[in-house]
Amino acid sequence: MSTAFLTHPACAAHDMGPGHPESPARLAAIRDALLARGLLDFLQHHEAPRATRAQLERVHGAGHVDYIFATAPSSGVEFIDGDTIMTPDTLEAALRAAGALVRATDLVLSGQARNAFCSVRPPGHHAERNTAMGFCFFNNVAVGAAHALAGGVARVAVLDFDVHHGNGTEDIFSGDERVLVCSSFQHPFYPYRARDTVPGRRVNTPLAAGTGSAGFRAAIERDWLPALDAFRPGMIFVSAGFDAHRDDPLGGLRLDDADYEWLTRQITAAAARYCEGRVVSALEGGYDLHALGRAVAAHVRVLLDA
Ligand SMILES: [Zn+2]
Repeated sequence: MSTAFLTHPACAAHDMGPGHPESPARLAAIRDALLARGLLDFLQHHEAPRATRAQLERVHGAGHVDYIFATAPSSGVEFIDGDTIMTPDTLEAALRAAGALVRATDLVLSGQARNAFCSVRPPGHHAERNTAMGFCFFNNVAVGAAHALAGGVARVAVLDFDVHHGNGTEDIFSGDERVLVCSSFQHPFYPYRARDTVPGRRVNTPLAAGTGSAGFRAAIERDWLPALDAFRPGMIFVSAGFDAHRDDPLGGLRLDDADYEWLTRQITAAAARYCEGRVVSALEGGYDLHALGRAVAAHVRVLLDA
């Protein structure tokens, strides 16, 4: 088995304007970094389908899905918030990004791939059940996790190491005992919505600005690994944001490339223990193009080794 790599050209067409950090160049930087390290040829390539309405409505209210479809402009731009902008290309990108998670989940559950990385945008982890925000329209990883649950997986874990709190995923699975959500994030920081930890199901790991490798690794060992051990997921989803990197222009944490390799090893080791290695990871943030490419390559290399 191998690692599936899912993307779609539409994900690179969504462009919120010059100077916006969540730019199409991010996907090109990832592809270039994987190519330069000789990893691209070892991946199993798949084009992302569109998520269906029914798949989106497992995690979003019908009114939210209607709103995104209705707001999508045929020309010009529509502002969802100050930096979350719809263009004529956005809806297609958002549907493909969410659909990538559905397809990746099917590939891993059917045994066609051991694990998967979705190189997609727009990102998803800030999108709540009824709210688009923070560059996110649909919650891609939540769509994948809900698809796994619908497919018979009893318990899924969502691990979110983006520098921003995964408020959308926490909101969507609030009160759902089948889903463990672990989120590490700079605190206090956008989106300022982190709720208190509920033992066993919601694990929030706030990190002070300036936290580097040692502090980050100690926090993950203290918070996430025992939670995974107690929960024993049937599948692991990863909201893979790379904006906690020391070179990132938005985040204030100080991780380096090796931390992403280390964390991915912890994740694949947990997946090997509990769920035959089943991991589906999807891009969230990460805005320094060089650091993003290197960190994703480190992440994907470990997935390939798993
Ligand atoms: Zn982020």
